[in-house]
Amino acid sequence: MSNTDLHPPTTATAPLVDGPALWPAQAHTPSVLGRQLVIERGEGSYIHTTDGRRLFDGTAGLWHANVGHSHPELAQAAYSQMQRLETYHTFARFTNDQAQALGERLASISPIERSKVILNSGGSDAIDVACKLARRHWQREGRPSKQLILSREFAYHGLHAYGTSIAGLEFNREGYGTESLVPETARVPVHDADALERIIHEIGADTIAAIVTEPVQGTGGVNPPAPGYLDKLQRLARENDILIILDEVITGFGRTGTMFAAERYQVDPDIVTFAKGVTSGYAPLGGILISPRLWEPFYRDSPDTPVFRHGSTYGGHATSAAVALAHLDLLEREQLIPRVRELETVLDQQLSALAERNSAVQDVRVAGLLGGVTLNENLSAERVADEIIELGFISRPLRGNTLQISPPFIISNDELIAFVNAIDEAITTEMTR
Ligand code: PMP
Repeated sequence: MSNTDLHPPTTATAPLVDGPALWPAQAHTPSVLGRQLVIERGEGSYIHTTDGRRLFDGTAGLWHANVGHSHPELAQAAYSQMQRLETYHTFARFTNDQAQALGERLASISPIERSKVILNSGGSDAIDVACKLARRHWQREGRPSKQLILSREFAYHGLHAYGTSIAGLEFNREGYGTESLVPETARVPVHDADALERIIHEIGADTIAAIVTEPVQGTGGVNPPAPGYLDKLQRLARENDILIILDEVITGFGRTGTMFAAERYQVDPDIVTFAKGVTSGYAPLGGILISPRLWEPFYRDSPDTPVFRHGSTYGGHATSAAVALAHLDLLEREQLIPRVRELETVLDQQLSALAERNSAVQDVRVAGLLGGVTLNENLSAERVADEIIELGFISRPLRGNTLQISPPFIISNDELIAFVNAIDEAITTEMTR
């Protein structure tokens, strides 16, 4: 049985490893307790731990800190807004000026023409509402059998009920029941568009509501789309009346060198999910961009017009929205997205050279300022990542024995080169251990 939660009975008598009250997320607790890095301060591309280390943040936290840490302008935006109004909800007749302004701003940069916007608290929330809206769409269209959500092998879409149910990383789905939390889901292979076509026909397009995909898979190992894959996905979706939900939680707001990866890869989605990069993590915020096809039926001037029954207290949080607006100003003023394109060239060169000279590197992949370094199986990415920290840099092991490279957009070329060199050195140290 692959389910890691179903431990053999011996674990019940193993000694208890107690630790701080805060339960570490996504952790095998005995492996991390006693060696947690407690971050207390950030400064641009660097973070400081309570035990006195200063580390280059080569992952931008969880791919979020695009403009770097502790920017005074964004702190000021939050402070000013909270003094005026912390937030006010956006249910029914009520809304707040910051959420309204952010809605307009996001619609103006959206890869979807005439977008409407729903705001909430993060990426997992965004996925939940995206999948609900897709199903609601087909119910309302009188095609209630279209409920199933397709997702790709190795996909990560957060860990709320929907994100858990459509996870392409099997370990995130296991242990909650025989199937998944939401039963109407299915996975397709990561890069094989012919298999996608086959599966759509096997399952039956009349039962499929939407396909969810990251343009570049992040947690699944930094996997840019195979050439032609997204084109074919798009064609199949259109031919079969399947909505496209593009999960831009990592890629949105410049990570691949365009405002949204939809532009870079020329995808025309029905819904775009976003989070992280909308505020660079300065305030919890996520949401979705919605195409007219989906929102217009809810905006008709008729007593019979349906209501989309979704919302949350912090959806449209005024302080988060104010921070997002200041953050988008900063992103534009500092020309950080064109800078990502320059950094992509450097990263590409550096990783190609690394793959060439270091025999333990099996594969490297780059899309914008996103990189993955896959190691040979005789080396552990987890141990190499620990070694990288000893050298003063942060990377992270991802699925497939891969190291994550996703630093803030504000780094210099030299810092990026130093980071890749540290990865090289850590690999070599591990090889000779
Ligand atoms: N989608 C993708 C593609 C993600 O990478 C993530 C987070 N890493 C999420 C959704 C979930 O976002 P959050 O952690 O903000 O809920």
